Amino acid sequence: MSTGLSEQSAERVKELVSGARLTVITTHKSPDGDAVGSTLGLWHILRSAGKEAVVLVPDEVPEFLRWMPGFDGVRVFSEDPQGSSQLIAEADLLVSLDYNHLSRTGPEVETELRKSRAPFILIDHHQQPEAFAEVTYSDTRACSTAEMVYRMAVQLGWKDHISAGAAECIYCGIMTDSGSFRFPAVSPDTHRIAAELMERGLDHARVHREVYDTNLQDRLKLIGYALNEKLEVIPECAVAFIALTRDELERFNYRPGDTEGLVNQALSIRGIKLAAFFREGANEVKVSFRSKGYFDVNRFARGGWNGGGHMNAAGGSSPESVEEAIARFRIEVMALREEILKA
Ligand code: 5GP
Ligand code: MN
Repeated sequence: MSTGLSEQSAERVKELVSGARLTVITTHKSPDGDAVGSTLGLWHILRSAGKEAVVLVPDEVPEFLRWMPGFDGVRVFSEDPQGSSQLIAEADLLVSLDYNHLSRTGPEVETELRKSRAPFILIDHHQQPEAFAEVTYSDTRACSTAEMVYRMAVQLGWKDHISAGAAECIYCGIMTDSGSFRFPAVSPDTHRIAAELMERGLDHARVHREVYDTNLQDRLKLIGYALNEKLEVIPECAVAFIALTRDELERFNYRPGDTEGLVNQALSIRGIKLAAFFREGANEVKVSFRSKGYFDVNRFARGGWNGGGHMNAAGGSSPESVEEAIARFRIEVMALREEILKA
């Protein structure tokens, strides 16, 4: 069962929120459904409670998340570094959602956040949160940060501030981070929260449609190409992986979010215990890891891939070339073969 805030933390959150003039809500780089859903969910709640708040994301939000109510007011640091830095400087309360370390916001946002004298509230479900916040609400058993935002709102007596719009954002965070309610972290509580969100007027079918049924042809073709031409299986290690170079991505007019879920396709192969996805970026290779069972990809990502996440879903990056990263990955999984096979 997931937990709420301690009584002391709940009181402190109330004090900090009521004392703040401007609250800036931030999340991690390459924002996903939970990042955008939890920040906008909280934004709606604070606004309904009569507080001034702004959501600031480090970089571009994928198109399939831009339908969320309130998205028009979201500020994107990479699109306006100066204005965004000023916004952070003006904030007298900073809320960090869906990340466990300030470095997850990227070097520029991290620098600005570290300069601020404003108190932080951290709400997150990743393991080993950095101790930078005055209030840390960490629950590594929660399937999503959005679920935690909901629980906190109820605990603080803000339930009436959860409008249908807030409910849609929160539901989107839960739905995307739980793999549509199928990952092991989903609890009876998750379903209860989803039910309560529906009772608040959310159109769950719309949320699903906006996120999953708005593909462009290019994206489907990229996924088709990746599965048909780029999927590699290492059967003796129960490992499958896909790597895409910048050239390949450009061929299909890649846009952020287009390869979301691809790593899960690799993991879905019968008998595969560990899957990886490599995406060549401008200066680094971005990696995603997924596992079935007990192989801990959070530890694996922290080990050699400058990353982290959860036991069954983690990510990281590497300054190597794609070829080098794949070669190293092959060596690492070969060395961990027994551990992966018995997971
Ligand atoms: P994804 O593979 O979908 O990008 O991310 C899966 C999980 O790993 C998410 O929970 C995400 O927060 C975490 N993650 C992804 N990339 C990184 C990274 O570069 N560093 C860390 N610490 N965590 C990451
Ligand atoms: Mn999350």
